[in-house]
Amino acid sequence: MDRSKGEVWIFAEQEDGVLSDVALELLGKGRELADKLGVPLAAVLLGSGVEGLAAKLFEYGADKVHLVDDPKLAHYQNLSYRETMIELIREVQPQICVYGATFLGRDLAPSVASALRCGLTADCTELTIGDYTDPATKEEFKNLLMQCRPAFGGNIIATIVNPRNWPQMATAREGVMKMLDPAPGRTGEIVRHAAKCLETLELPVEVLEVVRAAKSVNLKGARVIVAGGAGVGSKENFKLLHELAEALGGTVGGTRAAVDLGYCEHERQIGQTGVTVRPALYIACGISGAVQHLAGMQESQKIIAINTDKEAPIFAVAHYGIVGDLAAVLPKMIKAVKAKAL
Ligand SMILES: Cc1cc2nc3c(=O)[nH]c(=O)nc-3n(C[C@H](O)[C@H](O)[C@H](O)COP(=O)(O)OP(=O)(O)OC[C@H]3O[C@@H](n4cnc5c(N)ncnc54)[C@H](O)[C@@H]3O)c2cc1C
Repeated sequence: MDRSKGEVWIFAEQEDGVLSDVALELLGKGRELADKLGVPLAAVLLGSGVEGLAAKLFEYGADKVHLVDDPKLAHYQNLSYRETMIELIREVQPQICVYGATFLGRDLAPSVASALRCGLTADCTELTIGDYTDPATKEEFKNLLMQCRPAFGGNIIATIVNPRNWPQMATAREGVMKMLDPAPGRTGEIVRHAAKCLETLELPVEVLEVVRAAKSVNLKGARVIVAGGAGVGSKENFKLLHELAEALGGTVGGTRAAVDLGYCEHERQIGQTGVTVRPALYIACGISGAVQHLAGMQESQKIIAINTDKEAPIFAVAHYGIVGDLAAVLPKMIKAVKAKAL
């Protein structure tokens, strides 16, 4: 098969019949890639009793859904998911396959890539289509997947290509790609596959019960985030951030330095090794603006930065900057917001 005619795939991660946000985000990016290549965009949906999710995948941009519905796929297990993906990829031969860089995606994608010996770029922050010339052989390749990700601690952005093996596989961080607005009523084709590998597969683990840890912080869904850095100075001072966030109906986040200093919990960390967020309003308090932090918040719609150092890099991405001591600025902001709310 001519590889350049292969479909673009996104892995439609679901758990207990609920699609992950990242699957819908990837459809937005996948739509762009598939349109550029002039090929169909397909979502791969694995699970048990999950056919009903296909409608949502179509509304968010998929032309096709490759569905494997089997009781052995009811709960994620690397063996059953990996073997099913390998069989599907060998059968349909997509040219691109992208997964969310979730716990599941980070477990599944490398094992599929390793079995197919096709390579994988993990944690991409941008995916585009472009041409590439091998500097050694001068061989030219058209329409490759340009897989961009931060490297060397975020100090450079590396663009990685995979010209000689298929499919081109990548994982993309949650919250980085933009979800399309759903098109209600948009439909597509469901292609049902019976994975032969599952017929004889003995699962080594039987899932008896799933117990979820309660999640107290929802940074990804927050419209307003008040984030603090090392400049906040203490855990005690972080209470001011909580007060402002509460007054604005938002949530508190932090830098890695703030987490390391014990000012806030790890689940609040924003950035390259934390959560990626795009709230309507991001208030950065005592944050210098290191690239690793910016990687997780610079797509916020409005950014206000408060910092005593007028040269701090955070001001380069801020829409509004306040040069000042947050111990003086925050109480005034809290007072003003509360006065307005009355
Ligand atoms: C591989 C790798 C991954 C990383 N991942 C992440 C990540 O996911 N997220 C992340 O955040 N970082 C990450 N980092 C760390 C990152 O490089 C920075 O060290 C970190 O973001 C700095 O945090 P900060 O801005 O809170 O602290 P600092 O850089 O120390 O900045 C503190 C700021 O507070 C200001 N300030 C001080 N006092 C006041 C005051 N009273 N009022 C107002 N402003 C004041 C100072 O002027 C300064 O600009 C990572 C680093 C590496 C190498």
